[in-house]
Amino acid sequence: MQQKLDQKIRHLKGVGAKKAVDFERLGITTLRDALYDYPFRHDDLSEQLSIADVQPGKKLTIRGTISLVTNRKAKKNGKMIVTEAIIEDSTGKIKAIWFHQGFLKKVLKPGVVVSLAGKVDDRYGLALVNPVYEVIGTQAATNHTGRIVPVYRLSGAITQKSRRKVGEEALKSVDEIEEWMPEQVLRRERFLPLHEAIANMHFPESKQDLDLALRRLKFDEFFLHQILHAMARRELQQQRASVITFSEDRVKEAIARLPFTLTDAQRKSLWAIIGDVQREMPMNRLLEGDVGTGKTVVAALAAVNAAATGWQTAFLAPTEILADQHAMNLQKTFGDMMRVGIFTRTKRRVGDKEVTKEQMLHALANGKIDLIIGTHALLSKNVLFDRLGLIIVDEQHRFGVNQRRALKDRQGDADGIPHLLSMTATPIPRSLALVLYGDLDRSLLDEYPAGRKDIETAIIEPGREDEYFEKMQEEMDEGRQVFVVCPLIEESDALGVQSVHEVYSEYVEGPFCAYNIGILHGKLKQQEKDEVMEKFANGDLDMVISTTVVEVGVDIPNATVMFIEGAERFGLAQLHQLRGRVGRGGHQGYCFLHPSEKMSDIARERLNAVVRSQNGFVLAEKDLQLRGSGNIFGTEQSGFESFKLGSYADQELIVAARDHAKEVLDEDDSLVTWPKLKERVESYIEEVHFE
Ligand code: ADP
Ligand code: MG
Repeated sequence: MQQKLDQKIRHLKGVGAKKAVDFERLGITTLRDALYDYPFRHDDLSEQLSIADVQPGKKLTIRGTISLVTNRKAKKNGKMIVTEAIIEDSTGKIKAIWFHQGFLKKVLKPGVVVSLAGKVDDRYGLALVNPVYEVIGTQAATNHTGRIVPVYRLSGAITQKSRRKVGEEALKSVDEIEEWMPEQVLRRERFLPLHEAIANMHFPESKQDLDLALRRLKFDEFFLHQILHAMARRELQQQRASVITFSEDRVKEAIARLPFTLTDAQRKSLWAIIGDVQREMPMNRLLEGDVGTGKTVVAALAAVNAAATGWQTAFLAPTEILADQHAMNLQKTFGDMMRVGIFTRTKRRVGDKEVTKEQMLHALANGKIDLIIGTHALLSKNVLFDRLGLIIVDEQHRFGVNQRRALKDRQGDADGIPHLLSMTATPIPRSLALVLYGDLDRSLLDEYPAGRKDIETAIIEPGREDEYFEKMQEEMDEGRQVFVVCPLIEESDALGVQSVHEVYSEYVEGPFCAYNIGILHGKLKQQEKDEVMEKFANGDLDMVISTTVVEVGVDIPNATVMFIEGAERFGLAQLHQLRGRVGRGGHQGYCFLHPSEKMSDIARERLNAVVRSQNGFVLAEKDLQLRGSGNIFGTEQSGFESFKLGSYADQELIVAARDHAKEVLDEDDSLVTWPKLKERVESYIEEVHFE
């Protein structure tokens, strides 16, 4: 049955074909999509004051009648139109000022009743500066003022107002969203029904409503995650894996040719893996280690061991750039011991030779490749293996948990299912990992290769940038390279184009005019990104300015400086990961944290933690502690697993989700008792496969 929520938003009034394309870029084609695209923040504009009570400095809403409106040219900048209006209510009058919005004169005519929300300023006499306006018609309810308003990711011509309008339209049919959570869980946790939680997620009546919605929706994410893990575990217990015997000579030969000695931690992890794959019980191991602790070589040696007895290994990398880098490095080091290939959307090679897609598929299916490195392309249905024995997933939080399932029926001549090794640099606090990944064996690379020095880290106090710019120039003059990372500041700049361009023009006109600078942002095509990274890797660029939208997980041994603009906007784990990108080649590395404005005490404490500690696990705990303090209003991107809303700070919910998932599966692990849950879990599996 066709539901209202399946309607394409293209047909809505005020959207149209052009804006529909912008919406599509955000992943929104139907009304349903709009409901599941949650705001990333809410602004509290609910304080509604009489004009007489208005004071400067506060965010608030007033309601009144326009009594006068004029347009004039700005005194300093003659091109800018300034619109001024006087608004009156029964207690007084106040001025509102807008810049660059001359058209408002036609909308806000004298006599019109408006609701205005924003900050009151006394720079121009007491006035609301650039307030959000809403013309009050017959309805008393407002969407943009006088309430807690949702703030969404935007793209192209979409504005907050038009995005909210689509949300409002979708919410009319929110009742169509079916509950899938088992009744017993809902009852015991006193959760909001799903459709109510979603409605409140967009337009909450109060902070409390929003909190309740978040509690329910975060739980959903954790619960599905736990169900999936628990199901996978139960399934695994009933399955046999292929036995990969230990080829001691080959592994020793491979180790001997490395240009370095393995750390003890690497050695221990490798033996654990080799021990695991010799058993019929399917391996499910997580290899954890900070950036730069050398996870790749451990994985590669496991592949060498597998190849020695004719087993194939599939190595999934999170990005094309990384896949390519791994493939080139491993081909160079081990190319004569095993046949290495790469298979991504744009790159296909066997050894050093480029091949067509057909040749690639043929080679994989006929066992002409021992180690295939790739991205999602490897998971597509037409990829068949000859004898797949081992799957390695780099940065497992990007891929979810079930690649093994995706590849299970395409492993060729194997007599059991493939073993699985996941690798991550995201430091997960121990207590949490036990709950989240209780089913995994874990190996930890807790030592850096010898010779690696701490990265010198400093907070750049505003006004003292020049010293650091000089240091960066010195490094580049020495032939070293610099990363500059920019934050996403405005929601309209979800791809980071503006953010990167602003920093770029500031730099090329100023301190770095003499250097070759490249830029990377989310709007560039894959090929363009690859080109920039290649130039950087070859040393043709001295500096790359990018957002984190573009994953910089690449190994540039010659990069020594990581300069982070707006550093207080990043999570600690993220700052730490970025820092790990430099100083990998033996030269001293530097990380400069440049906060964008005056920092709050908490923000300063967070950055100080990064200065003081070089240990990702310590920082993860600290982040948890400082975020847990509950003063963050709204929903923050967590960058954590595949959760949209959930974060480390939600430990209690995570534990509850685990317990409920266990109980549900103990009762009926076929889920037949809860058909809606079964359906939801199945679609979740699809989502984590192909995200
Ligand atoms: P990550 O754990 O971040 O994936 P990589 O596997 O990319 O780290 O390794 C980082 C760098 O360290 C690579 O250039 C790699 O060759 C090098 N490396 C790995 N192990 C050692 C070691 N035991 N001694 C010295 N260098 C090492
Ligand atoms: Mg790595």
